[in-house]
Amino acid sequence: MADAPGGDKKGWKPATQAVRGGLMRSQHGEISEALYLTSGYAYDSAEQAMRRMAGEEEGFVYSRYGSPTNEMLQQRLALIEGAEACRVTGSGMGAISSAILAPLKAGDRVVAATALFGSCRWIIANQMPKFGIEAVFVDGADLDAWKREIDKGCQLVLIESPANPLLDGVDIEAVARLAKAAGALLVVDNVFATPVLQRPLEMGADVIAYSATKHMDGQGRVLLGAILTDAKRMSDVYDPWLRHMGPAASPFNAWVVLKGLETMQLRVEAQSRTAARLADVLADHPAVNAVRYPHRKDHPHYEVHKRQMKSGGTLLALSLKGGQDAAFRFLNGLQLVDICNNLGDTKSLACHPSTTTHRALSDEDQAAMGLDRSWVRLSVGLEDADDLEADLLASLNSL
Ligand SMILES: *Cc1c(COP(=O)(O)O)cnc(C)c1O
Repeated sequence: MADAPGGDKKGWKPATQAVRGGLMRSQHGEISEALYLTSGYAYDSAEQAMRRMAGEEEGFVYSRYGSPTNEMLQQRLALIEGAEACRVTGSGMGAISSAILAPLKAGDRVVAATALFGSCRWIIANQMPKFGIEAVFVDGADLDAWKREIDKGCQLVLIESPANPLLDGVDIEAVARLAKAAGALLVVDNVFATPVLQRPLEMGADVIAYSATKHMDGQGRVLLGAILTDAKRMSDVYDPWLRHMGPAASPFNAWVVLKGLETMQLRVEAQSRTAARLADVLADHPAVNAVRYPHRKDHPHYEVHKRQMKSGGTLLALSLKGGQDAAFRFLNGLQLVDICNNLGDTKSLACHPSTTTHRALSDEDQAAMGLDRSWVRLSVGLEDADDLEADLLASLNSL
């Protein structure tokens, strides 16, 4: 397999990397990335098998360790992000659970923002203590709380910004400085922003984790995750974990995401434009209590989002005056937008976080992240903005 001419040029801009980065063409010269479905690899000799297994010779040995299609995707993602190394996993949670568990041991202490994706919160709150790792949650917007808890001693910090479900913002640069001073690793879940809108490595993060299921596939087809970090940490900390724990990604799913990445920037920019317009329209409706959109001035973390993100992103949340009853009637009245807890899809999707994605949290824990039963989360897709606006307003008007 020969590298495409210039196939890994470091100087290309992210949009070019998203289309051409990591491309490895076979002897057939295919234009579109090849899909290699194989679990094992034939060696020329027993000696070669020995050298490959010992890591003395480049080459694939088993698809739990690495495979050609996955390798193309890893290189492409690393080049888009500006990271030294990337590994893909079977789902976003496969990536994030590995990103936060592999570096830790009993006796360590983790500090995380209260507003997190439900499963990330579950791992930290319920799983880490089982392994003797102390877990503390802080209000992500409260820098004094971050400083107080990180300074008590801490090995790993996890943040998500914008966070599920109300698009809370965390000042990544400020938390990165605190983590660095304490010798803690900063892991950022950058799913909502995507590398198109936010670059946490440039703000001091050590590890970036993605659910590629969202905007990277972007068309609602497959699950996949990714971990990005420097080459040394990848080979020392994550490679052994990933090999032996086994959250490997299917090459088919990796291939789907490779193709999804080629249109990611266009999609994210277009979906963000529509989301910004819809946020303004919804905020003016009499049935709506409040709208949360990262680049609207009435978002409590507007300043942070404005500084960190190129645009407000593809997600917004709205609170309805009639509580859960109104939220359910609003969702049930939508004709175009689907009711679905996925996000980042070309199809617009809406959900009721309190009773779906965040239902495992008690009312008190939900309240601690500002969530109550009046909120609906909307992931804005690629449909015509006029059609989306008409659908949302028709359902609101019928309440
Ligand atoms: C979806 C999501 C995840 C988990 O990803 P999966 O691909 O569903 O496993 C983690 N974090 C955030 C912010 C997400 O939106």
